[in-house]
Amino acid sequence: MKCSGCKEPLTAELVRPGPTGFIFEPYCSRCAHSPRCPHCGTSYAAFQKKRLLSCQHCYSAFQPELVLLLRRFRSKQKISVQPEIVSAAAQMRSRDLLERSSGLAEETVQSNEREFFIKEIPGEIVRLRMMRNIHGLPYGKITYNIVNFLSIATETERPSGIFTQLYSGDEDHIRYECLARRQDFSGAIPYLQTQLQVLSGLFVFQFHPQFGYLAACPTNSGGGIRLSLSLPLNAMPGSVGRRVLARSGFELRLPGRERFELSNRFSSWPFDIAATLERMERALSEAAW
Ligand SMILES: [Zn+2]
Ligand SMILES: [Zn+2]
Repeated sequence: MKCSGCKEPLTAELVRPGPTGFIFEPYCSRCAHSPRCPHCGTSYAAFQKKRLLSCQHCYSAFQPELVLLLRRFRSKQKISVQPEIVSAAAQMRSRDLLERSSGLAEETVQSNEREFFIKEIPGEIVRLRMMRNIHGLPYGKITYNIVNFLSIATETERPSGIFTQLYSGDEDHIRYECLARRQDFSGAIPYLQTQLQVLSGLFVFQFHPQFGYLAACPTNSGGGIRLSLSLPLNAMPGSVGRRVLARSGFELRLPGRERFELSNRFSSWPFDIAATLERMERALSEAAW
């Protein structure tokens, strides 16, 4: 028997007397004393362990805790997100997907093309990612319906020199990723802007007036989009420059041994790719002085 909150084995069954007999408490002692989402049963204790929420209602259930948690991440940039106007067709598709999604859980296979692509690029790489979750569908629910629909809906010829992929994962229902060398990226921006517009009109997406577009990982919620500049580690500014970068409002990350990344985690939506990229480059050149 597993705890309904954190899915860990229950060590002792909790039984307490109720008005019409004994009530079985299907939660471990940690989860029993932790706030819980009334919709999916996930406890805040379980979230602290997994770092991922289980459904959009968790946001309301843990709102005070999440506000405190996100304050740390969001001190630099404010989210200013306007929800999209949702078409009747998108509403229909969302409803249809929800009806057909019960019981479906399939892994999507990611191609090796991405790894090959990255290896080919020695210098500056631009990376754009968009995350969206479909209203009413719990996280971790991966359905072929989404992936099939996406591959048909977004089938257009992409400019040469850029790599794009669309996938569904255990963190988010829809993830769109685009990679390109810096010099190829500028030419691809009109195409990307159109793709993002198409994607954002496909379904009714989870949106909360305080948190923006919701994601399974609450630190990813907000604009639901992330633009990064990735450079070789030997181009990274020294400690003074890194302090300048830290003040720029962009986030400096070291995802591996060979590269560092400057990215805007909490952008606004709609989103000006070209202008954000320019601000990032300005911050990098100031840091390099
Ligand atoms: Zn538990
Ligand atoms: Zn929940």
